[in-house]
Amino acid sequence: MRTLAVVGGGAIGLAVAWRAAEAGWSVTIADPEIASGASWVAGGMLAPLSEGWPGEERVLGFGAAALARWPGFAARLTARTGIPLFVAEQTLTVALDQADAADLRTIAEFTAGHGHRLRLLDRAGVREHERGLARTVRAGLLADEPAIDNRALITALRAAAEMAGVRVDADRVDDLAALDADRVVLAAGAASAGLWPGLPVRPVKGEILRLRHRPGAAPAPTRVIRARVHGRALYLVPRGDGIVVGATQYEAGFDTAVTVGGVRDLIADAEAVFPAIAEYEFAEASAGSRPGSPDNLPLIGVLDDRVLAATGHGRNGMLAVPLTADAVLALLDGDSLPEAEVADPERFGAGARADGPSAAAGGRVPRSREPVGARAAGAPPTREPVPTTADRPGAGFRTDTGGIG
Ligand SMILES: Cc1cc2nc3c(=O)[nH]c(=O)nc-3n(C[C@H](O)[C@H](O)[C@H](O)COP(=O)(O)OP(=O)(O)OC[C@H]3O[C@@H](n4cnc5c(N)ncnc54)[C@H](O)[C@@H]3O)c2cc1C
Repeated sequence: MRTLAVVGGGAIGLAVAWRAAEAGWSVTIADPEIASGASWVAGGMLAPLSEGWPGEERVLGFGAAALARWPGFAARLTARTGIPLFVAEQTLTVALDQADAADLRTIAEFTAGHGHRLRLLDRAGVREHERGLARTVRAGLLADEPAIDNRALITALRAAAEMAGVRVDADRVDDLAALDADRVVLAAGAASAGLWPGLPVRPVKGEILRLRHRPGAAPAPTRVIRARVHGRALYLVPRGDGIVVGATQYEAGFDTAVTVGGVRDLIADAEAVFPAIAEYEFAEASAGSRPGSPDNLPLIGVLDDRVLAATGHGRNGMLAVPLTADAVLALLDGDSLPEAEVADPERFGAGARADGPSAAAGGRVPRSREPVGARAAGAPPTREPVPTTADRPGAGFRTDTGGIG
């Protein structure tokens, strides 16, 4: 039986492990703290369309392909585990001022040009859909983009992987070459560059809140609500018991401390959009490291003749789980998935194949010390936190790092 080692048991690694085990591989996940990373912290939006922006055609194409795979993937996972995943069926992006409203029109026109019909709403239309939103909301953009409960997803993936025979090894991996397996999938999230020098994946910190509904409080919105408040991106994702409020974004290295300023801004901004949150119980504040890439597309592909990358998913890792798993399965079979080809690590240069530990161990491909991509992971992280707003070149719901997850 062919053996596969999956390094990292976040949503990406778990999904790959589950699917590979069902496809006949003997799979071990290596992770000292399985499901402890960004996947546990995330919001769960699956929203590539309402993040569409002119010039980002490849990101939109990849995201739309990822979204299209969710219904089948979720049905299969829920059939195996009995765990439902979806918490919302639509996403409503709202505008608080004229500039935001103009951005919504830009997004609607851009996505329509690529075959996706999003619906612009006026003030009354927004209120018809979500009565609890602030009266200052003046327009909206409605998209058929669902959301999932990320923690239900992790729980379901762990259960499905276990049922399929996946083993878990709780040792931290320091050297991919030391792994005893025919093939290796590198899915260590933001830590991936530590295992493959030069891989252009860096940590992008995000803080997020979980608020619980209390008796008598207004019900949570039924859709994902996205907005921009005082120049900061905000989203509210419904949960069975309340709302998830996200998220900040900083270039802060591997720092998962929750800051007072981050919590303060998220609460103030959420209240500006959905005033009733003041009546909710403050249940949790957490922070995680998104595995950022230089161009907002992940790195899914061959690193050398043994190692595959499935990392760098940035703010859309939940969205990309089904497509990533399918793409890795195809690669393990010596095939490739056309929709995932834009994510080939080769786009950052041949060094992606040449500089990794397997090469060092086996010498099967020529070695190179060239960093891969514009932002080599070996570069020191920015110590000074850079708030989300600094990323935003004037466009309300866009950032140069691709969305607000
Ligand atoms: C605040 C926040 C909100 C987000 N919201 C959304 C959203 O709404 N929608 C969306 O699509 N995405 C969202 N994301 C992004 C998404 O969470 C990530 O892209 C995704 O979780 C990445 O999954 P992963 O499995 O690659 O990484 P992770 O979940 O971080 O898992 C990596 C795993 O690797 C393990 N690991 C690390 N080093 C080693 C090692 N040396 N040896 C073995 N194991 C190792 C870790 O223990 C961890 O379990 C959000 C992220 C954050 C932080």
